[in-house]
Amino acid sequence: MSDFQRPTLCCCRKVLSIPNNKSENSMPAMGQSPPVDIASASNFHSFTLRHFHLSLQLNFRDKEMTGRQVLELCSTKPDTQTLVLDTHQSLLIHSIDCKVHSASGDQVCTSLTYRVDPFTDYGSSLTISLPAAIRPQHTFQIIIRYKTTDGPAIWWLDSELTCGNSKPFVFTQGHSVCNRSFFPCFDTPAVKCTYSATVRVPEGVQVLMSATRSAYSAHEKAFQFHMEYPVPAYLVALVAGDLTPADIGPRSRIWAEPCLLNAAVSKLSGLVERWLTVAESLFGPYVWGRYDIVFLPPSFPIVAMENPCLTFIISSILESSEFLVIDVIHEIAHGWFGNAVTNATWEEMWLSEGLATYAQRRITTEAYGSAFTCLETVFRLDALHRQMRLLGDNNPVSKLQVKFEPGVNPSSLMNLFTYEKGYCFVSYLSQLCGDTKRFDSFLRAYIEKFKFTSVVAHDLLEFFLGFFPELKERCVANREGEEGAGASSVCLPA
Ligand SMILES: [Zn+2]
Repeated sequence: MSDFQRPTLCCCRKVLSIPNNKSENSMPAMGQSPPVDIASASNFHSFTLRHFHLSLQLNFRDKEMTGRQVLELCSTKPDTQTLVLDTHQSLLIHSIDCKVHSASGDQVCTSLTYRVDPFTDYGSSLTISLPAAIRPQHTFQIIIRYKTTDGPAIWWLDSELTCGNSKPFVFTQGHSVCNRSFFPCFDTPAVKCTYSATVRVPEGVQVLMSATRSAYSAHEKAFQFHMEYPVPAYLVALVAGDLTPADIGPRSRIWAEPCLLNAAVSKLSGLVERWLTVAESLFGPYVWGRYDIVFLPPSFPIVAMENPCLTFIISSILESSEFLVIDVIHEIAHGWFGNAVTNATWEEMWLSEGLATYAQRRITTEAYGSAFTCLETVFRLDALHRQMRLLGDNNPVSKLQVKFEPGVNPSSLMNLFTYEKGYCFVSYLSQLCGDTKRFDSFLRAYIEKFKFTSVVAHDLLEFFLGFFPELKERCVANREGEEGAGASSVCLPA
């Protein structure tokens, strides 16, 4: 499989105020029933997760992280007696405590009982018995002490597996449901919250995270991070190793091993700012402040991942200027589609990937012309058609909205259809409105309305028909032959 044919798991900072209370523990935005996420064992519907903090000590010799996690939660339902989090069999819990203010206002710290039960082959459930002092709408803290071992989210590399062969390396990859082996969490894209972290490593190792603010405290001998906007668990990412920075624009920096840095800078200097500026002209302000890129060793399991503020990208992509351009622009597009507005369930991954692919092609059209974009699109759609012929029209994995059976890992159903069928459907919506620029305006309004929340297809389509009332009046939803030319199993709401 060539780099280009590998699934571009995607995967990616202007300071804005967080708009309203929808940014807290985001749920679908249009007042429907909250989503069911069969890939999560957690009872996330019963809580608001306000923030969490990770204190991590990285041990490269034993390939383990020792963690202390503080979750700030608020029960939303009366008589909630348990908190259920997603975790993983590789994550070893040492203790769990609770801090809560009693009715008299005193802070009480209690040691809690808990149990870990099997859930799927990609995770376990952590059921924590809550103290009676927990009251609805009152914030309390859960403090979990744990250790990670050999879980799917954390990739430890001996120095021989790095480009420079000088120092060991570690990175995390949370998409889709791996981060439950990094820290206990509501591992569902329906839940978003802010996070912070303190990370201690051996001297000489640089640590980066998907955060809006980062610093090194010489006093504490620790890296400190803060993500000030709400993100789902899968977008919390960490990388540590022999990494050196170089600025490539006013809000962009490349991080890479020293032996790779010059090549990366020469290929991207000035370009990222150009692409960000084009994207902002199409879809509105870039909300994450910085857009940095870290190049990872060739054992990075995917091409690129759109961790907020810090795209992770495989270093071998430097061998192809064309793929580098397309993949970085795709990750930039996720700053709007996927990261600011996120699919609330994994069954609707196309909402992130289809919209990001459409946005990527709008950016390349503006930056490089329609010929460049057409060639890239035809190449990918040809691959889509070949896969459709191989699998047949009614294959469950070729659906735009995939139905997950319990136990199926969502990552296993992410494929070309997620990207290209999603793109076809978004293109169909663009053609329905009849004007690419008007559709750009719709996408800008969509981002403005739903940013920092998680949505389902119904939200997108309702907002689309509200934005283009003439289409609703023409009952486009029911017109035979216009349901996406067979490209989609999603029906427009009447
Ligand atoms: Zn993507």
